[in-house]
Amino acid sequence: NTQIIFNGYIDGFPTESAMTVKASTIKLKVPNGCNDAVLVKTLYLSCDPYMRSRMSKIDDNYIPIFTPGLPILGNGVAKVVDSSNPNYKKGELICGMFGWEEYCLVKSTDILLKIEHTDVPLSYYTGILGWAGISAYIGIYEISCPKKGESVFISAASGAVGQLVGQFAKLLGCYVVGSAGSKHKVDLLKNKFGFDDAFNYKEETDLNAALKRYFPEGIDVYFDNVGGEMLDVVLLNMNLNGRIIACGMISQYNLKEPQGVRNLFKVVAKQIRMQGFLASSYVHLFPKFLDFVIPLVREGKITYVEDIAQGLESAPAALIGLFSGRNLGKQLVCVASE
Ligand code: NDP
Repeated sequence: NTQIIFNGYIDGFPTESAMTVKASTIKLKVPNGCNDAVLVKTLYLSCDPYMRSRMSKIDDNYIPIFTPGLPILGNGVAKVVDSSNPNYKKGELICGMFGWEEYCLVKSTDILLKIEHTDVPLSYYTGILGWAGISAYIGIYEISCPKKGESVFISAASGAVGQLVGQFAKLLGCYVVGSAGSKHKVDLLKNKFGFDDAFNYKEETDLNAALKRYFPEGIDVYFDNVGGEMLDVVLLNMNLNGRIIACGMISQYNLKEPQGVRNLFKVVAKQIRMQGFLASSYVHLFPKFLDFVIPLVREGKITYVEDIAQGLESAPAALIGLFSGRNLGKQLVCVASE
């Protein structure tokens, strides 16, 4: 049972040395007398930016930190190979929080969701049909509710969440622009995801001027994935009564001191509604979300780009790559086929 072990708490930019690939000789099995254990074979693992916050010793973290010496934990798709829980039977496919290992014993089953639709790629349950997808859905359809003709800006726009946010906003008839960190990503935004425009923020010497160029009439909705300097200049370009959805702030995750946002008073002056959210608080919306998005996928009205690393051993590099923008689309790891 190969595992990816968390070595210990880190500061600053994460490197692969935070994790070790270990071949464990212990054969996992459902313990006798335990009636809620499920042994799963891991198929796909999701690499997510929030996992960085589980690697540092933060007292008031919003999610439990990893335990040194134990496997990294993350969302994934798995197949039940043995179970003492009557709700989960051998052969069933589930999503949940699993150890980064080939086989994983899940003791608490309340975080497991059964996979009902298998006519779409199974890997989609780590992204478009998982937390990334529902995050895009919440931000657009539950929080900001952009109207036809409104202007929407998305940072880290080609990623797991961003590519969907833009497509949802286009379905609503909005003017949509995204920023991303390479020419290839910008091409994807314009030519595959149907954004009205896109730019490479790394090539802009003056981000404020860039936003003025793409949004001469201002921004109505900003879906923030990065925080920091981008958020600061967006504040200067927001329209009256604009909405900012604080989904994530990846530019801050590896900094020892958070970068100051100087233009926050614009929230007052422009009567902006800025709202953060955690997708985990909206788990009750999953059935509604899947009923909405699966037909769009089937009809080809929404497309999804994945970056699939092969083999559990590739997982540390895949996770670290998120913080330098190495991923093209949703980063995940294929651990095994069904
Ligand atoms: P992505 O697939 O977008 O991958 C991360 C991307 O962030 C990279 O590819 C890179 O893209 C960009 N990036 C990395 N470092 C920086 C930096 N220093 N400054 C600017 N951009 C950077 O990730 P996700 O779509 O999974 O997540 C996007 C955001 O949403 C994250 O902040 C994440 O934490 C958050 N999130 C929040 C959830 C919630 O419940 N609130 C749920 C899911 C995600 P590029 O090459 O374009 O720079």
